[in-house]
Amino acid sequence: MVGEASEAVNAGILAPNQDEVPGRAERPATDLYPPCGMPQPESTAHPIPAMSEALEFEVTLFPNPVLRKVADPITAFDDALKRTVEAMYTRMFESQGVGLAAPQVGLRQRILVVNETGDAKEADQNLTLINPQIVARSGKKVLLEEGCLSFPGIYAEIERLDGCVVEAQDIEGNPIRLELEGFLSRIVQHEFDHLEGILLVDRMSPADKIRNKGELEELKYMYLESKR
Ligand SMILES: [Zn+2]
Repeated sequence: MVGEASEAVNAGILAPNQDEVPGRAERPATDLYPPCGMPQPESTAHPIPAMSEALEFEVTLFPNPVLRKVADPITAFDDALKRTVEAMYTRMFESQGVGLAAPQVGLRQRILVVNETGDAKEADQNLTLINPQIVARSGKKVLLEEGCLSFPGIYAEIERLDGCVVEAQDIEGNPIRLELEGFLSRIVQHEFDHLEGILLVDRMSPADKIRNKGELEELKYMYLESKR
């Protein structure tokens, strides 16, 4: 399931061909996007609505500071967790993603949902990881293009080791251990980064930061406008 070098990886977005992103070629590549380390005002985490209300999430976009927080462990494997996970899958599939981390819906919680097919009908491929830890990474270094739902329209070639071993809990709190490789391993590594406050922009090459400078500046502008 490892993608071709030209195939965008999704950890967040089912990426169109880079060439189809309008305006990319015309973007001036003048100087580097400032290094990361965004100021971290108060969390904007969504409160969980009462049990009777439908849970619905929007994707939190860069540079919302909640994306920079280290997420907190889950301690209660209750109905609220199940509702959160269910709503995260709904958001992920509707956004054509193959993975989603709780901080991407404004929650500082160590929850990942993954489905490498990106297809809601393939629910047997759903992988829910609560309190995941990547305990080992191995294999060859692979450079592959990634996107992220929190960075719409932005893609970058990211180098990661092909394999990883993940220890986590399932939605009932039972321990699980998975040895992953290829595409699924990459998605989990990307999503795990979100729980540590590490973002696509942190792993981009200087060249990709230059190439995506216009889009990154636009996201920052949109965020500031949304705060007004
Ligand atoms: Zn992401």
